[in-house]
Amino acid sequence: MPSEPIPESVGVSKRFKAFMFMVVAMLLLGVVLPAAYFLTGSWRRQRAYDNAAGNVLDCPADVDEQICDAAEFVQVLRGRSFRTFPEVRVIGSDEFDESLADDWVDEAWLGYNDTVYTALGLIGDDVDLVEVERTQGIASILGYYSLGDQTITIRGPELNPFTLETLVHELSHAYDDQWLTSSTVPFTPPTWAFETDSQGFVRLVVEEGMAELVAKKWLDAQPDDVKEEYDRIIEQRYGSEPSTGVAVAPFAASDSDSLDVWFLLQGYPYVSGPGIVEQAAEGNEEIDQLITDPPDTIERLLHPDVDDQDDPVVEVEAPTEVEAEYEGQLGELQLSFVLGVDAAAGWDGDRFVAWNESDRSCITVHVAAESSTELAQMVDGAQGWQERDPGRTVETVQRDGLEVLRLATCD
Ligand SMILES: [Zn+2]
Repeated sequence: MPSEPIPESVGVSKRFKAFMFMVVAMLLLGVVLPAAYFLTGSWRRQRAYDNAAGNVLDCPADVDEQICDAAEFVQVLRGRSFRTFPEVRVIGSDEFDESLADDWVDEAWLGYNDTVYTALGLIGDDVDLVEVERTQGIASILGYYSLGDQTITIRGPELNPFTLETLVHELSHAYDDQWLTSSTVPFTPPTWAFETDSQGFVRLVVEEGMAELVAKKWLDAQPDDVKEEYDRIIEQRYGSEPSTGVAVAPFAASDSDSLDVWFLLQGYPYVSGPGIVEQAAEGNEEIDQLITDPPDTIERLLHPDVDDQDDPVVEVEAPTEVEAEYEGQLGELQLSFVLGVDAAAGWDGDRFVAWNESDRSCITVHVAAESSTELAQMVDGAQGWQERDPGRTVETVQRDGLEVLRLATCD
């Protein structure tokens, strides 16, 4: 056990099915990988995953054989045996929901997101993210790995190809926890709460991306009858067609209950993570390195060919006009919702402040661009955002000798 107790809500990494995000996510996927990742199975490419040493921990005698097989798959793929065999609980849906209900919802973190996304016009005014997470958030979780007691919990009630795929995902987290993530990088809320574009968020994208990649590889390795059963369960749960998605671009709240962007961001590590990991690292050694020491910003992950020397992140002075409740860095990913993917790719650093004022949410952001050309593209990209609400301002200002894009709004 760690010396400091970890609150339950901190020590959990979850998995949920991200079908509803798929189509919406394609636009963002375009930044980092061929959009057809999910459709063509680009993860089937051969990688240096073979565990030549054959390190596999013996499965305890009382463990279900299917769990043993799943664990073996993960060990062979990732290259090492588990240090200890992970404990797995497969429980009914109601019990599963109850196991999360008390601890899952982090109100401080959600309050922050509510303010920022409402202010930017990315979620509807009437959305209550705490309520959303209590209901839809928990219901969408299929399994989790608890860092505190190192237990995997699966939404059952039974093992079948669908729940086994989730188990493989969670076993990947157990593997990371046992071998790779003794680093001090905070992982889950609330530690990376007010800095979504942080090393903690990048680590989330990397670990969830890797877990999804391992799960997909497991499914791909199954015999046809298992795959058919899997497809049948998926169809029963989600319908035969994935949701067609909504409001792809521009990224804007389509109505007062709109949650598209929120779900897109929540699903991002799962939907885009696998392709990002494949692009950024090849083979277990590089993957281990990426998980152990992830980059500081999502920009580094999206553009792995650019290094810190060539393109250092610019320190941007925070807007100082108000006593803000929140201050942080939006980063390239979140700004792509506002500026568009291409314009946001010119990101070189940013700082925002956000606050609530009577019943309005407000934000002011300063964004540095890599060049004056890219700054002009950002200004251009922000026009659509500005035109949707006359209260929004878009301008360039000098801050600390640096010309930056300034976005300001109360919504
Ligand atoms: Zn996960």
